[in-house]
Amino acid sequence: MLSFYPGPSKVYPQTLGFIQEAYEQGIVSINHRSARFESLLKETLENLHQKWDIPAEYTIYFISSATEAWEIVAQSLIEKKSLHVYNGAFGKKWAHYVEQIIPQASSLEFGLNESLSDFASQISDELKTTIDTLCLVQSETSNGTGQVICRKELGFSPDCLIAVDATSSMGGIELPWLEADVWLASCQKCMGIPAGLGVLICSPKALERAEKLNRKDYYNSIILMEQNRKLFQTHYTPNVLGIYLLNRLSQTLPSIRVIHQQTWEKMAIWEDFWKHQSSFEFDFLVDQHALRLPTVLALKGESSEVNRIFQLAEQHQIDLGKGYGTWKNNTFRIANFPSHTIEDIHSLIQFIQA
Ligand SMILES: *Cc1c(COP(=O)(O)O)cnc(C)c1O
Repeated sequence: MLSFYPGPSKVYPQTLGFIQEAYEQGIVSINHRSARFESLLKETLENLHQKWDIPAEYTIYFISSATEAWEIVAQSLIEKKSLHVYNGAFGKKWAHYVEQIIPQASSLEFGLNESLSDFASQISDELKTTIDTLCLVQSETSNGTGQVICRKELGFSPDCLIAVDATSSMGGIELPWLEADVWLASCQKCMGIPAGLGVLICSPKALERAEKLNRKDYYNSIILMEQNRKLFQTHYTPNVLGIYLLNRLSQTLPSIRVIHQQTWEKMAIWEDFWKHQSSFEFDFLVDQHALRLPTVLALKGESSEVNRIFQLAEQHQIDLGKGYGTWKNNTFRIANFPSHTIEDIHSLIQFIQA
């Protein structure tokens, strides 16, 4: 079985050996307040800083999921007013959950073929100056759009925190860390390991906000998470196996610069293929190349064509991603994560062409 589902997806094959290793070495049974755990966490954070090129002053936390991170942003960081700017189902869901916590949360929806920066430049200064936290989605997994995140182009006040959901791109492409204060993701997308671990990355400005608000009424308040991180511990018993897998993978995988290049090279194979193949009638859901997310492709066509490709994929024991939300019946999605090799892509291409 080969999974091109945009998460959970194919895991790196080497994780099997690492899982076995973790079992044999007793890692799966260690206490999260033990010296062994502390050195595992310390090393993993250092590796991620180095491999993903994360600025030294940004701090990394392990949580349970990206969804949890959405809530942490609302509970620990949003002061009074957040603005959610999105064009797809994940951005909308994030806004929905925040609205239950922050009464003055507001949302703006932009178009599939519009860039976030262009859209943001049209937001009134009046609105821009009243917002304390801006919530954005870099990788909109539901429709395959990818956004450039640039503080200057967004044009909000310097005090405004920018929080970015990069769930289906973190670990697969280079991210402009300094252009936002919070980055969040889950491990079952580009990180190529089984689900059950989330990653939250904060800038010093985000930590300052957390300290200023001083909200400690949740087990996962950023203040409590930071106190634990300083000791190389976590605020609750974490997914130690997941942390171990990330640790071992980060030792063996190339730097994010190399992975980024590989992701775009594989995306180019896919773009070329879909342009020239004649077995199916599909187009990219997103017209502009520059607005496509290289880690998740969304293709649209008649629902009969979508059904036909799913049937064919099933016969070949290949999992494709179903359409999501508005695009449920007339799109399908293909994950282009770092765990997907060029051989994997060719095995899918081959049956489509046959
Ligand atoms: C998958 C995904 C999520 C949710 O991740 P969970 O691990 O289920 O919490 C959130 N945002 C985006 C963009 C995603 O792709």
